[in-house]
Amino acid sequence: MSATIFDKIIAKEIPADIVYEDELSLAFKDINPQAPFHVLIIPKRRIATINDIQEEDREVVGHLYVVAARLAQQFGFASDGYRVVMNCNQDGGQTVYHLHLHMLAGVTMGWPPF
Ligand code: 5GP
Repeated sequence: MSATIFDKIIAKEIPADIVYEDELSLAFKDINPQAPFHVLIIPKRRIATINDIQEEDREVVGHLYVVAARLAQQFGFASDGYRVVMNCNQDGGQTVYHLHLHMLAGVTMGWPPF
């Protein structure tokens, strides 16, 4: 599991627009937003993909969703709705191999996503 750009964001070696941080996680604005509000919620401990999630990661992975719910309240999207999505590997559209939850809001979204 090699380091990614997200390790540098966690270490504050490169800038990011951070909207939430605690001991387990970090949330920051996506550099190439796909919705009016597009935040990435990541674990500070590196996990490459969904395939690499282990039993001991249960707390931190669940915590990412708790953070999403808090941000939805904080930024006023809880009622109208929003989307959280995690891409896995090539066909899933993953480009950064450090687990992250995309949180997209501020627009009515379609389905399916292809
Ligand atoms: P993925 O395609 O892996 O699901 O999502 C990776 C996301 O990370 C993309 O939406 C991309 O725009 C975002 N991203 C890549 N590099 C950076 C960066 O240096 N800063 C920020 N804030 N987002 C990044």
